[in-house]
Amino acid sequence: MGSATAARALLTEVAGIEPVGTWSAPGRVNLIGEHTDYNDGFVLPFAIQQRTHVALGTRADGRIRVVSTFDGDAVEVDLAALDELFPANRGEVPEWAAYPLGVAWALLRRTGRSAVSVTGVDLAIASDVPIGAGLSSSAAIEGAVATTLNDAWGLGLDRVALAQVGRTAENEAVGAPTGIMDQMASMLGRADAAIFLDCRSLAASVVDLGFADAGLQLVVIDTGVKHSHATGGYGERRAACERGAEIMGVRALRDVSVDDLARAAELMDDVTFRRVRHIVTENQRVLDTVAVLRDHGPRAIGALLLASHASMRDDFEISVPELDTAVEAAMSAGAIGARMTGGGFGGAAIALVEHDRVQTVMDAAASAFAASGFAAPTMFTVVPSVGAGRDA
Ligand code: ADP
Ligand code: MG
Repeated sequence: MGSATAARALLTEVAGIEPVGTWSAPGRVNLIGEHTDYNDGFVLPFAIQQRTHVALGTRADGRIRVVSTFDGDAVEVDLAALDELFPANRGEVPEWAAYPLGVAWALLRRTGRSAVSVTGVDLAIASDVPIGAGLSSSAAIEGAVATTLNDAWGLGLDRVALAQVGRTAENEAVGAPTGIMDQMASMLGRADAAIFLDCRSLAASVVDLGFADAGLQLVVIDTGVKHSHATGGYGERRAACERGAEIMGVRALRDVSVDDLARAAELMDDVTFRRVRHIVTENQRVLDTVAVLRDHGPRAIGALLLASHASMRDDFEISVPELDTAVEAAMSAGAIGARMTGGGFGGAAIALVEHDRVQTVMDAAASAFAASGFAAPTMFTVVPSVGAGRDA
């Protein structure tokens, strides 16, 4: 059963009604631009075909009920009680429910609408975005719920505002300190295109990828190694970036260019310098990728993907042996380019591959993992796809 059908069935099971409509939003993969977001820099993510679906029912009692195939229990509260729940008392609901309820809370707060001015809702949620695999199931659930309620409540917010609402929900209601890249990709995605995002201005533009015309596929190699923002590595990298920016006398590393790196090397210790060099060169690689895609097409971006991986491995030091093995195996099996994607310390690598080499690359990664004694990776292809919207 597809997840749109599953969401409809779940609504009927829980609320005994047919949905008023269904909405959905996709997960995302970041093509290039890693750890640049919190340095006010550039990223180039795309929405994927895996989506989270919401089936909507309306109710007259001013309450909001959320239920997901992810968790057996429905959670129900008064819309008027959301303000007491978030952020201080978020522990009163299961963590997953803070995503959809947090979106409702953030929408009301942003629009200044009172709880009594909007209809009560039942939201039944089902997803085919793998959860916790670095494909941003969190942005998918936020985007799906935000577009649903924006329409149900007639709020008239645009896509960028809905992305910001998703981020507010994740940062303040759930309490996870993340940037806005994932939500922007999920809201703004287009078929066979990526979203070029300036994380300082939030200016976003659609960049054609041309994978389909060129016969290319993007393979995800999920190492299964779990990363956690709590383990310190992420915070340490952020602190190093802030230190580097302060030494360079700029607001953020976005304001340092490749030409400034020689001076940076003289001003700071080796570790801080290498963290800075990753961010500065990665920002340039995002700009170069956009230009190369436009001028030479997708087969020409392989070297940039590889340079991004090398920079994360050697300068930012956020790769792990499994990710390096995935990238090396994909390249030796003829991939055009490959890199780890996401925050690092685990998660997934991506490889850009001719369509008739997908199986060869997957087989090569599987045997390289086995030879190294790593657990077998999960592998699948992703297709750059359209962003959030109403489906039925
Ligand atoms: P990622 O975004 O990489 O998949 P996160 O840890 O950011 O991982 O978000 C995953 C969390 O989001 C889940 O643990 C759950 O709380 C929530 N979530 C995501 N998708 C769903 C869903 N379909 N139903 C309920 N909760 C979900
Ligand atoms: Mg997430």
